[in-house]
Amino acid sequence: MFGKRMKLFKLLGFEVRIDASWIVIAVLITWSLASGLFPYMYPHLPPGTYWFMGVVGALGLFASIVAHEFCHSLVARKFGMQMKGITLFIFGGVAEMGDEPPTARAEFMMAIVGPLSSIAIGVIFYGIYRLGLASGWSTPVNGVTYYLAYINGILAAFNLLPAFPLDGGRVLRSILWGAKDNLRWATRVSSAIGAAFGVGLIVLGIFQFISGNVIGGLWMFLIGLFLRNAAQMSYQQILVRKALEGEKVRRFMNTNPVTVQDSITVEHLVEDYIYKHHYKMFPVMSGDKLVGCITTRQVKEIPREAWGRETIREAASACSPENTISPDTDAIQALARMNQGGVSRLLVVENGRLVGLVTLKDLLDFFSLKVELEEQG
Ligand SMILES: [Zn+2]
Repeated sequence: MFGKRMKLFKLLGFEVRIDASWIVIAVLITWSLASGLFPYMYPHLPPGTYWFMGVVGALGLFASIVAHEFCHSLVARKFGMQMKGITLFIFGGVAEMGDEPPTARAEFMMAIVGPLSSIAIGVIFYGIYRLGLASGWSTPVNGVTYYLAYINGILAAFNLLPAFPLDGGRVLRSILWGAKDNLRWATRVSSAIGAAFGVGLIVLGIFQFISGNVIGGLWMFLIGLFLRNAAQMSYQQILVRKALEGEKVRRFMNTNPVTVQDSITVEHLVEDYIYKHHYKMFPVMSGDKLVGCITTRQVKEIPREAWGRETIREAASACSPENTISPDTDAIQALARMNQGGVSRLLVVENGRLVGLVTLKDLLDFFSLKVELEEQG
């Protein structure tokens, strides 16, 4: 679902990114506003004005969504959860969590603050709109502030639907979770409701499309599709989490990884190790001492003509919490570590010595075998 992401800016320690899909959506929103909603609500304005209103309206919507996601992130941080940043895509954004919420109460607070912030933003824009009317501001200005008041109300209402993983669905899950003290069951119930809402929206969208409401129908269809996928994915995530919980990295790491000496050249590494073993990462040793690791990503950054003279020692990255893990770490934490660092391999280190290597593929293979062998019982 996530494609290429672009970093926009950093605020209060959170990185704000946009998914490539959001650019398509931004164009679609601007176009819907400039050629649909604004000409309908405020006829007889010049076409250029509608486009200007469309762009400002889309930017205002963008800022509103960022503010909504920020409120989630701030509450999450208050409950001690690690947040990776905010990525805007399709309808709205996601505040990316490194972990699941620690408690039902934390999830409830985190979820409810989103719709509340949208309501607050909507009320503020409505106040500005009323002020504009009273002070005789021009129609395009009042039009945009009215739209932003209205769309924030819609955002709040949409996010309050009890359809997991929307905010309302998270509120529902936290209540179920708190009531039965069973996160897996709570997620199963709330994501089934979420998926049902998604299918309902898809059907409604097709119906609207056929009966002539092309733009509205298209939006419903897209949102329904997104919701259904997101609901199913969230439940699968919980399954993976449950299967890997309590499993130590030691159990499925590769205890005999191929290592390289730090004195060899990049050329040597590429020819005799990367092309031979097809691994993307090699632990780098100096004698029998682990000094770091080298990845294909780092090799790519070295100009081709330097491969013959540059040694691995200069190109490798030193051992750090980003690329190493202890064999007694929980598999779930290994997964979170890979996710945070954007890597698929970690060095397994015990008392400063390399004892193995763990890859995302190992984790997933272990998971699918475990499900296959144990689930039937
Ligand atoms: Zn939200």
